[in-house]
Amino acid sequence: MPMSNDFKKRLLPAMADIVAHFGTPFHIYDEAGIYDTGLGLKKAFSNIDGFMEYYAVKALPNPSIMAIMHKMGFGFDCSSIPELVLSRQQGATGEKIIFTSNNTTDEDFKVAFSDGGCILNLDDTSLIPKLPAIPELICFRYNPGPRRTGNDIIGNPVEAKYGVSHDQILDAYRQMAELGSTRFGLHTMLASNELAYSYIVETTRMLLKLTEWLSAELNIRFEFINIGGGLGIPYRPEESPLDLTQMSREIIELFDTYQSDNGYAPKLFMESGRYMTGPHGVLVTKAINHKNIYRKYIGVDACMSALMRPGMYGAYHHIDVFGKDPAKLSTEKVDVVGSLCENIDKFAVERELPVIDTDDILIIQDTGAHGHAMGFNYNAKLRPKELLLRQNGSVELIRREETMADYFSTLNFEKNVLNIKA
Ligand SMILES: *Cc1c(COP(=O)(O)O)cnc(C)c1O
Repeated sequence: MPMSNDFKKRLLPAMADIVAHFGTPFHIYDEAGIYDTGLGLKKAFSNIDGFMEYYAVKALPNPSIMAIMHKMGFGFDCSSIPELVLSRQQGATGEKIIFTSNNTTDEDFKVAFSDGGCILNLDDTSLIPKLPAIPELICFRYNPGPRRTGNDIIGNPVEAKYGVSHDQILDAYRQMAELGSTRFGLHTMLASNELAYSYIVETTRMLLKLTEWLSAELNIRFEFINIGGGLGIPYRPEESPLDLTQMSREIIELFDTYQSDNGYAPKLFMESGRYMTGPHGVLVTKAINHKNIYRKYIGVDACMSALMRPGMYGAYHHIDVFGKDPAKLSTEKVDVVGSLCENIDKFAVERELPVIDTDDILIIQDTGAHGHAMGFNYNAKLRPKELLLRQNGSVELIRREETMADYFSTLNFEKNVLNIKA
């Protein structure tokens, strides 16, 4: 069930005008849909005191989208300095930002601690001596290793470079408590695009159990657990959406049990990216070439600089041809391709689509997360613009397309030559 009927109703009647005004290709995001999902998530967990979503900025690092998250009261999950800066520009500070870096640098720490700070989610005990100061509140990212199997996309925790191992986790909190930290959180991130809600429930159960053990060993309390992101979305029409209602029901039960066993319960944090914006974006691109060799190819005016997921993961993105209903028209099997000198630059492989004419508009769906953000400049391919379909029906340019001047800008610098003496 890719693009929702509501999104279609808002976008399709305006499509011809949008294409005429802005030109293809572009990603367009649906403000109303993002609000629906965000407010739905909030409502699902309203029974847990202090529930907080920290939007994973990397999914769609556009200030106009981040402003929507900020308006809903959400925080931001960052893992780089520019993401921290973007979040602070939204007015988020202190505990509205979680910094989940990996292979962290001194400069990362410096910026994380500046400007009102943030919640520091430490990836390893070796980073403790590198902290510029001892934060009052500290969180560690936990890697359960063989205790859990990862889901399909994120892989086996034993092979993951992230987090503190089970053997080290007790010592990690002991060290920070001895150094003077007094407030504690616990984080993990084990899933990616997980549609089976029970996997997320099990992650919650694992973290809650771990806090009980750590609390008893160290005589500390946990202020929050952070179950990470990874909530999945149905990219394929035959997939069903994540059962958020049942997931939240079972998670709330776990928190109720914790409360009655311990006399208090931590807050619940999550840092979803894909689930929040993924379904609320599409890549709109125009068919420009037809090629008929061993297979039929439809060349479009976007390429993988706009969307890496099909090439990188073999990911499926549903495609509609604007104005052509596959149930009513004859279809044919085609590869939909970009212009990169890489054979993985395909948006669809052997896909049955309505017969496409030159200038037809293709709507490549579910590009609202890890879409534009992942784009790259290989082969000097430039990234397309981003538009936002507002709730009032207006359409706003929220990022212009890249230009050649952007591409060449890193070649403008002062001469810098090191002469090595023999
Ligand atoms: C990527 C990432 C997320 C978001 O993942 P989604 O699959 O988009 O929900 C959350 N937390 C961390 C630490 C991440 O690296």
